[in-house]
Amino acid sequence: MAVVRRFGLPLLLALGLAACAPPPPQLYQERIFVFGTLVDLGIWGAPPERAKAAADQVARDLHVMHRDWHPWEPGPLTELNAAIAAGQDYRVTPSLLPLIRVSLDLERRSHGLFDPGIGRLVALWGFHSDDIHKTKPPPDPGLVAELVAKRPSMEDLIIEGDRVGSRNPAVKLDFGAVAKGFAGDLVLARLRELGIEHALINLGGGLSALGRHGERPWRVGIRHPQGAGILGAVTLESGEAVHTSGNYERYNEYEGIKYSHIIDPRTGRPVTEIVSASVIAANGALADAAATALVVAGSRDWLEIARDLGIELAMLVDEQGTLYLTPGMLERVEFDQPPKSLVVKNLPGATPAGGSPR
Ligand code: ADP
Ligand code: MG
Repeated sequence: MAVVRRFGLPLLLALGLAACAPPPPQLYQERIFVFGTLVDLGIWGAPPERAKAAADQVARDLHVMHRDWHPWEPGPLTELNAAIAAGQDYRVTPSLLPLIRVSLDLERRSHGLFDPGIGRLVALWGFHSDDIHKTKPPPDPGLVAELVAKRPSMEDLIIEGDRVGSRNPAVKLDFGAVAKGFAGDLVLARLRELGIEHALINLGGGLSALGRHGERPWRVGIRHPQGAGILGAVTLESGEAVHTSGNYERYNEYEGIKYSHIIDPRTGRPVTEIVSASVIAANGALADAAATALVVAGSRDWLEIARDLGIELAMLVDEQGTLYLTPGMLERVEFDQPPKSLVVKNLPGATPAGGSPR
């Protein structure tokens, strides 16, 4: 495991101040490589030994999640997927079951636009690999259509106690769109349990906050979908998370066309119109899954999907650079550059049943 540790304040400064006043709170930082990405954990204001012990425990937890939830490295999830493909059921590990339950609820609330059952489609488009930039031809449209016709979904699962099977052998579970967010929630719960009051965890660009950063709330950047900079900064309340989904990091580029790793379950094809969606929510699993669902929903349906997911803070960016925001998000975000084109829309009221986009 790759771990780098350092203290936020230079030791000399801390010692100098200690002579006349109590030592100032310190930021203890740890970097862990897990889920194919860098995870940065910052713990604020805790005694160094407690911060270190908590960070070590979090690192162990994250490695267990990585092992148990990985969609293609052999482990509990690949075993479950093999059982589903063979028409069998499988006894899942205690760390997998809560992820399955949380994801099924989010799939329903997103009307199936967030659908962790489409792992075969994700694999068919070449995204079950550690190689994040590819230049491979897209798959045969016939194979895509065949899989879409089988309508794989988590709704097909049969969950009895800790045994999981599926009515539909075309289901292949892939939690790539929710795992980092759910991991953020578990990390905050673990830190609370270990007596940590203030922390920020950055799981490959998705952040979860606990408490505050000294006198002020945690303030984090939202990555710009084009280029390396940030679109703006937002503050996070304790327990909140912000997640951004898009095609800026993981994609396939073939003959000048960029194929996103976010697949529309209705067409089986990578999404095109929206290049990124950012969501702030009271928990990480919701923020992460919702960000993916809103990319799929597009500028036509995003508000209805946000409403049904219970999201009030969302921002989308389309291929032309137009920003779509909820009024709540507009209040939260401090833009780096004034946006060229901005559409602010209220969440719609509830619509009668039957208005599902899928
Ligand atoms: P990131 O991994 O950059 O945070 P996302 O949270 O949007 O981005 O997750 C995208 C991943 O989720 C894909 O790599 C794939 O594994 C999976 N996925 C793609 N499309 C969907 C979808 N419509 N519903 C659920 N999972 C998806
Ligand atoms: Mg996501």
